[in-house]
Amino acid sequence: MLERVRVLVIGGGAVGCSCLYHLTRLGCSDVALVERDELTSGSTWHAAGNCPTFATGIGVLRLQQYSSALYRLLAEETGYPINYHVTGSLRLAHTAERMDEYRYVIGLARPLGLPYELLGPGALRERYPFLELEDLEGALWDPLDGDIDPAQLTQALASGARQRGARIHRFTNVTGLAQERGGQWRVGTSGGEFLAEVVVNAAGYRAAEVMALLGVRLPSVTLSHQYLVTEDVPQLTERRERLPLLRDPDVSYYLRQERGGFILGPYEQEARAQWQDGIPQDFSYQLWPDDLGRLERYLAAACARVPLLGTAGIKRVVNGPIPYSPDGLPYLGPAHGLDNFFHCNTFSFGITQAGGAGKALAEWVLQGGPQWDLWSLDPRRYGPWATPGFALAKAIEVYQNEYAPAFPYEERPAGRPLRTSPLFARLAEAGAQYGVRGGWERALWYRRSGAAAARRHSFRRDHEWFEAVGEEVRAVRTGVGVMDLPGFSKFLLEGPAAAACLDALLCSRLPREGRIALAYALDERGHILSEFTVTRLASQRFYLVSAASAAQHDADLLRRALPAEGARLRSLSEELGTLIVAGPRARELLARLTRTALSSEAFPWLAAREIEIGAVRLWALRIGYVGELGWELHAPVEQLGELYERVRAAGEALGLTHFGMYAMDSLRIDKCYRGWKSDLESGYSPLAAALERCVDFGKAAFRGREALLAERAAGVAYRFVPLLLGEAGSADAPYCSALYRGEEVVGTVTSGVWSHTLGKSVALAYLRTAWAAAGTELEVDLLGERVPATVATEPLYDPTNARLRA
Ligand SMILES: Cc1cc2nc3c(=O)[nH]c(=O)nc-3n(C[C@H](O)[C@H](O)[C@H](O)COP(=O)(O)OP(=O)(O)OC[C@H]3O[C@@H](n4cnc5c(N)ncnc54)[C@H](O)[C@@H]3O)c2cc1C
Repeated sequence: MLERVRVLVIGGGAVGCSCLYHLTRLGCSDVALVERDELTSGSTWHAAGNCPTFATGIGVLRLQQYSSALYRLLAEETGYPINYHVTGSLRLAHTAERMDEYRYVIGLARPLGLPYELLGPGALRERYPFLELEDLEGALWDPLDGDIDPAQLTQALASGARQRGARIHRFTNVTGLAQERGGQWRVGTSGGEFLAEVVVNAAGYRAAEVMALLGVRLPSVTLSHQYLVTEDVPQLTERRERLPLLRDPDVSYYLRQERGGFILGPYEQEARAQWQDGIPQDFSYQLWPDDLGRLERYLAAACARVPLLGTAGIKRVVNGPIPYSPDGLPYLGPAHGLDNFFHCNTFSFGITQAGGAGKALAEWVLQGGPQWDLWSLDPRRYGPWATPGFALAKAIEVYQNEYAPAFPYEERPAGRPLRTSPLFARLAEAGAQYGVRGGWERALWYRRSGAAAARRHSFRRDHEWFEAVGEEVRAVRTGVGVMDLPGFSKFLLEGPAAAACLDALLCSRLPREGRIALAYALDERGHILSEFTVTRLASQRFYLVSAASAAQHDADLLRRALPAEGARLRSLSEELGTLIVAGPRARELLARLTRTALSSEAFPWLAAREIEIGAVRLWALRIGYVGELGWELHAPVEQLGELYERVRAAGEALGLTHFGMYAMDSLRIDKCYRGWKSDLESGYSPLAAALERCVDFGKAAFRGREALLAERAAGVAYRFVPLLLGEAGSADAPYCSALYRGEEVVGTVTSGVWSHTLGKSVALAYLRTAWAAAGTELEVDLLGERVPATVATEPLYDPTNARLRA
């Protein structure tokens, strides 16, 4: 038997069925789902079914908000009854930092219309009569939280999909995957073959097993996760209303009413990974034996918090498989290197996320991308560098910290260092404090010699590195600084058709030979997909540089743009390293090292030259991200050590200072240089991003052109602007904090830092165009406080670029 289908979904858990449901909802009825056993037989059947909307990241927040709205209507829409209790929840706080986290999330959530409330200890008993208040600072109230029956949810989604024409094949195990020449997928199963235009891997904790059929490794770890269910207690059976869900993240458990008893579920410090050598084929609808010892301390803490729990006997323990990625977020989006193959798997909160995930997946498949930018969930954030050992260490760490506060600058240690520059140890000796970007260790800041370590995490501006970063910034603004930037994504595109191919992909004008330009790739909606620094090495030879984490994303984008012949693409990411030399004395420093003329006439801003420093031949690019005279030196990675030693020696007499990512952030925001996936994301066009100068409407065609023209004609709804905050306050504007004009939300912050140059808190933001004129007075939500913010003119520093052209 051969069944042809447009989209084939592998896996009939809550997530796979939601994909199927949403594909049909978007009008595609030629869809099928294959499930190796019964629907729900993976992780779904035994899940506790908690459905929070709360999340510390905007992408997940949006998914969960959508799910909760969908679940409220789903039973009625599909005619399939679902037990869904919207009880609200209290998330307790034992510390001031935890309250800050809640303030931060409330700031994220309010513009989305999520009605969270911050409560003091005095208000908690009203909502939860059995609660002991000792040691509590307060709590966050989420009125939309609740619990759903995961099996009923899955069946309702399946039923809705079937009603619109979807086919579901149970007991159909996928055993083979191969792509035909024409691009279609031939999918072998225990029940016959399928020929599908598109495949969606929604196989839960078996998603990596499915990828192994293609010889692809997916970084996914199965952990054992438990909850216990108690006997009924009269105080609950007698109540007419259900108790709200209670979460005590500072201890790391949730407690929920289940019929007349409780469910208690912790995220345990003693996290256990399972099946590292493969999943038994017959594991389905099964659990592991309980491990009550691991639950004891959480049970004791919960009994102290809610003494009523201590009166209930334990009825059963559920210990089941839960998949984890290295950062605990699912894989949702296109698979790298494969056409028409999508991931929607490795969900650790797949019941509450299934609704939103299915919607986004259907938009990926049928519309080319989701409504919201969901880069944080994109499978291409991990490359082959995410080895099984790394995935295991990180999965355990993220599970242990599932309820830990999501501090903005925290860098967790497990699985590190993994990807390092040849300078790693030398810079560590110089005081480098490292963090990870795209798997690469990068110096974030430098501890001055003799300065004591005082690791402290905070949502406010009281980090131990604050003064050190200020010194680094001042050194770059007044002298010269050096920075190692491993992991940039680098590509060489060459061949007789290279220029034409790039021209059709990018909305920007290509640079002349020997020159550099910033250029943008857009989607069909005219929204920004990627930013490249394009250097034209020769007429048909281009060197493209983009963000470290974009390696697979941009490789896919470029590969798909290649013509059948005439252009070759090669990744240079592993071959070249990058050293940045920046500051008003950068020329003086480099002049000591190279014979190449460095004057502004001989080597102007935005020019590129091949130069030699000692025995090292390299590309010197006169550009930068800090707004000063400077060069990026792109050199063979095996010679980076030699290059660095020469730069360091030549810089000694000039007071050369190491600087790190935190200083760079403060410096680049002074210049309003955009960051990929913070200030530039697929929700906005280059017109909204105030990058008209990088759009060449004179070109006959580029992807997104028609949409941009339409947007320009209709008037651009949002505008990217810098903001000056009126008060120093105790915090800078967090990512995605809301901007208000009176009570109206008129925009969102995309970056916020302390400008060590201006001595002010500054931010970059998208504002509704009506409020984007310079001088407009607004307010920004800073951890629950409204702080005045004034729209300024871009850039905030060196408006004529005199320092860059110097
Ligand atoms: C104890 C416990 C409590 C939990 N509580 C919650 C909670 O309260 N809230 C929450 O949001 N999440 C919770 N979770 C997590 C939740 O269970 C999962 O995130 C969710 O079930 C994932 O759904 P899924 O559809 O992605 O995966 P699954 O439910 O695992 O579905 C994947 C399906 O794919 C099928 N499949 C696999 N390989 C193949 C193949 N080769 N061919 C065909 N079919 C295949 C499997 O049989 C399976 O049915 C809990 C998990 C555990 C263990």
